[in-house]
Amino acid sequence: MSTPQAQLPQTTLTQTSLENTALATGAPTAPTSVHADHEDHSFRCESCGYSLEGIEDHAGACPECGTSITASLPSARTGSPWQLRARPASWWDTHKGTIRHPWRGFRTMRIEPRSWKTLFWSTLPIAGFFLVAPWTGTLVGDPARAARGAGPIVQALAYLIVIPLQALIAAAFLFALTWIEWRGIRFFAKSRGWRLTRDAAWQVCAHASVGWVIGALIPIFTMAVLWAAPGGRPSLLDRLLARGGGLSYSTLTANDAVLLALVIGAYGAGLLVFELLIYVGVRQCRWANLHQPPKQPAKPAAG
Ligand SMILES: [Zn+2]
Repeated sequence: MSTPQAQLPQTTLTQTSLENTALATGAPTAPTSVHADHEDHSFRCESCGYSLEGIEDHAGACPECGTSITASLPSARTGSPWQLRARPASWWDTHKGTIRHPWRGFRTMRIEPRSWKTLFWSTLPIAGFFLVAPWTGTLVGDPARAARGAGPIVQALAYLIVIPLQALIAAAFLFALTWIEWRGIRFFAKSRGWRLTRDAAWQVCAHASVGWVIGALIPIFTMAVLWAAPGGRPSLLDRLLARGGGLSYSTLTANDAVLLALVIGAYGAGLLVFELLIYVGVRQCRWANLHQPPKQPAKPAAG
């Protein structure tokens, strides 16, 4: 049997001794397991969830799974570039890092209450833009479509107003989907007995939101390739629009059906990108410890 033999004397370490240690080291004195949000923020092994609360020797290993305790320290989560400094370059680096190295990205992402919001709200409108871009000015009832033939200036103005508006509506739609996902992963983690906190779940969703951007780009590329391919034109969409929306089974050819299936499949693949990132994020954060900001030393009064 490979059961760990080491049994740490956990019962001898009380909350009081922990607080005394915290006082001596200048660390935050509040017990880490009690927070205003009524969530479990106790110090746990990020690999197996075993409570490491009260263990003072961080050089050791988790008594349950043998993972180094330092790997579970909040400081081991060094933060995504966006969490360290929010600016356009770090936005790009964060999303690129999540796509290229999702396991590492979600393992080094900090669990904190605020940074996810700005990342989220700077990403969703971009995903929304790519989601509506191929359709703007094509669908019946679209003001940009109605502006056709009204002169280049009116048409350009219509697009300038309509595209951001549609992108924002799409972003709101994506937010609703992400919120459902957030509820879903919280529920899923709870049913598995994991500790995926509110903030951890939002951080996972915000860092996975680049999946929506990729997810919106996949159909664009798919349609571009399909429309350019022999037989792609006159496409189902073109004929549908040209006839003012008279789609019926009798006008649907086998070619149309294949094109339609491929376009729907491209949207499905897009959704899969987001879901895969969420999956990795949940696995990497199911026991994630809350980031502890270093206590600022008292500054002398400025002269
Ligand atoms: Zn462990």
